[in-house]
Amino acid sequence: MPHPATAVRRPYNFAAGPATLPLPVLEQAASEMTDWHGSGMGVMEMSHRGSEFMAIYTEAERDLRDLLAVPENFKILFMQGGGIGENAIVPLNVSRAGRADFIVSGSWSKKSSKEAAKYCDAAVAASSEDNGGFRTIPPVAGWQLRDGTEYVHICGNETIHGVEYQTLPDLKALGHDVPLVVDCSSHILSRPMDWSRIGVAFAGAQKNVGMSGVTLVFVREDLIGRALPICPSAFDYKLVADADSMFNTPPTYAIYIAGLVFKWVKAQGGVAEMERRAVERSSLLYRYIDGSGFYRNEVDPAVRSRMNVPFFLPNDALNAPFLEGAKAAGLLQLKGHKSVGGMRASIYNAMPVDGVRVLLEYLQAFARQHG
Ligand code: PMP
Repeated sequence: MPHPATAVRRPYNFAAGPATLPLPVLEQAASEMTDWHGSGMGVMEMSHRGSEFMAIYTEAERDLRDLLAVPENFKILFMQGGGIGENAIVPLNVSRAGRADFIVSGSWSKKSSKEAAKYCDAAVAASSEDNGGFRTIPPVAGWQLRDGTEYVHICGNETIHGVEYQTLPDLKALGHDVPLVVDCSSHILSRPMDWSRIGVAFAGAQKNVGMSGVTLVFVREDLIGRALPICPSAFDYKLVADADSMFNTPPTYAIYIAGLVFKWVKAQGGVAEMERRAVERSSLLYRYIDGSGFYRNEVDPAVRSRMNVPFFLPNDALNAPFLEGAKAAGLLQLKGHKSVGGMRASIYNAMPVDGVRVLLEYLQAFARQHG
């Protein structure tokens, strides 16, 4: 289906989330909006327990398990509450009200540690906040993990600061054979996941997976069934897992959209191809920024995010004209997070490499004009 408003070119949307989606996914959803596969119902109108939605759900779960090679001893839950919800749901389910250690590498892991402290003995084992304000990941050798900690929480990709783990830490090698909890909200499906190091991983859908409203939660089976008594039933991993994510009405439309995105990722070549494109997009952008003598990215090159690229102009007075010109050039939502300032280009799976090329042309033209 041609996109009527974009006979010329659909704008490139660099939002951090909710974020751009693959056009074929939007088009398919539009074409099935009022009648899914001849059922006479739109997906929003179906019973979550009916055969039509069950088919959608089962296929989405299978595709996701396939794409990320999720082992059989992990349950995949489709929950609500977002990443921020999981900040409470994880300690309610996994901490046994004991110790949990947090590696703080940006705003999101910092938020996670604060929320967990309501439910358990949460401690920051390492933080890069004072070291230039979250420009790197605290070196593993300095992590102050406590004996008896139930788990160690990291944020795989810090969406606001643009800091990303390139490999998951090996806690066993550090002498702590405990599960890693990974917030992978903003880089899921852009790289493989090393399940041997993970106990729980969670991701809100609104970046690489689809629309907001559904949270993907991967839980190793031995961590299910130990929720604190105060854990709300709808957030108890055991109750949710036993009911195949239908303990209460799940976010059906968001699951359907996620399913379409999984099919799209598969058709493109899977996670390996998503990773190849992420490397291509992000290296194009960082290489240009670093060599520009005009723009700057302040993150340690070893841990720069492939998904979120924050950058600054030489002075803040240029921010407004930059954003105005970008919008006119069909480059949307480049404004940086308010806590960091400057700009941020989020380049998730659905961003074509061409989107980054067009952005580079604009960056070059703006620098020529104002440099
Ligand atoms: N973690 C990360 C890494 C995020 O980027 C976000 C949202 N931008 C969240 C958690 C919070 O997610 P939500 O708003 O869905 O609760």
